[in-house]
Amino acid sequence: MLLVTDVTAVTMDADRRVIADAAITIDGTRIVAVGKATDLVDHHPDAERVDGRGMLALPGFVDAHAHADQSLLRGRTDDLAWIPFIAEYVTPYLTRRDPAVAVAAYRLAMLEMIRSGTTCFVSPNVDPRDDLDALTTAIDTMGVRAVLAHWVDGPDTLDLASAAVEDWDGAAAGRIKVRFGLDIPRLPGDRYQPGLYRATAERADALGSGLVSHFCSETEDWTYYEDRFGLRPTQWAEDQGILGPSTLLINGCWLTAVEAGILAATGTPVVASPTATMKMASGVTPVRDLRDAGVIVALGTDGAANNNSFDLIREMKAACLGQNSSRRRAGTLTAEDALEMATIDGARALGQADEIGSLEPGKRADLILVDLARAHTWPVADPIANLVYAAHGGNVDTVIVDGRVLLRDGGLAAVDEAAILADAARAATEAARVLPVRARRWRYE
Ligand SMILES: [Zn+2]
Repeated sequence: MLLVTDVTAVTMDADRRVIADAAITIDGTRIVAVGKATDLVDHHPDAERVDGRGMLALPGFVDAHAHADQSLLRGRTDDLAWIPFIAEYVTPYLTRRDPAVAVAAYRLAMLEMIRSGTTCFVSPNVDPRDDLDALTTAIDTMGVRAVLAHWVDGPDTLDLASAAVEDWDGAAAGRIKVRFGLDIPRLPGDRYQPGLYRATAERADALGSGLVSHFCSETEDWTYYEDRFGLRPTQWAEDQGILGPSTLLINGCWLTAVEAGILAATGTPVVASPTATMKMASGVTPVRDLRDAGVIVALGTDGAANNNSFDLIREMKAACLGQNSSRRRAGTLTAEDALEMATIDGARALGQADEIGSLEPGKRADLILVDLARAHTWPVADPIANLVYAAHGGNVDTVIVDGRVLLRDGGLAAVDEAAILADAARAATEAARVLPVRARRWRYE
């Protein structure tokens, strides 16, 4: 039994209760009780204590769009629009790198996630060449929860993805899920493969899995579908049978009101990644409109290549700023909205809201403690405002996943941080050999 004491519990339950002077009891992998400390502490005199005095307790964050394998590209792809970003950097990196590099990249990404409170992430477009045994072992060892979306761009990779689902879905005591990372055309010249998209959806359905796909991110994405089919991308996707609650659509910057209605009617969730899409000038996901239409909208960082971070706390602030500025109305997306996206709505978007996303009895014990007693988050008039608008990942003090303490007092419990950083540095140097050298304007001596 683990007893987390003296916290302010931001439960994210259906009533959105925020409980001061709270305690949380954990038995094995699950939460047993969340309530006032006076009601819980005396009942468990022998429990192992985690003293959270003065801290917020929250469900662990869900980063629903996190290219963990791109962490090694941090600082190498700035100031680029999406086509040179993908064509000149990401694709050469992915196609020419040593698959072993992926493990070092994933471990670095997960290290940053744990340090910034992310306990579950979605890695889209997992490279078919990657060693899933090694990747899932790395995820298991780091202790977090993940959804790996195996890349599908044709019949061969569809079969490989099916095998990956059969072999690895449910690995790491159920903490790893495997989905199909569907590639759909975005530009004239991209391969259009009639039958593949529906076949992938049917295979995913048969295996009890789901789809993850980048979708309507750029102006080019929607002009392709309008020019070729006379349809908006979401209308085309509905015709192909790829929408539904077990599909996760990434970005959707250019979704219209008509499309929001289709997504709501089919129960299809979207994940917004505001920092990356604003940085690359792709656009701003219409989060407010989608939420108002009844679409579940999760939050994602996209990752270190174009964010340049996996810090979901900073992403919550970016989400609010992007909505407010694009709508030219303060409060278009509030701190409470953003926290829902990063927690319970992320869990709903992954079909895992029965297990994670809130602090409630019976759910998995995935929770974090955030210390706001720092100069940049003090005083605490409104803990949610401070968390979203003032904090960053460095405020995270403690991380627990499935009842296992991964981070405590800012220290990693079972991971050699120095070794991960050293491995990542070596792998990044190796990976960079396939990238163009970017000119620097300043003189570095
Ligand atoms: Zn992406």
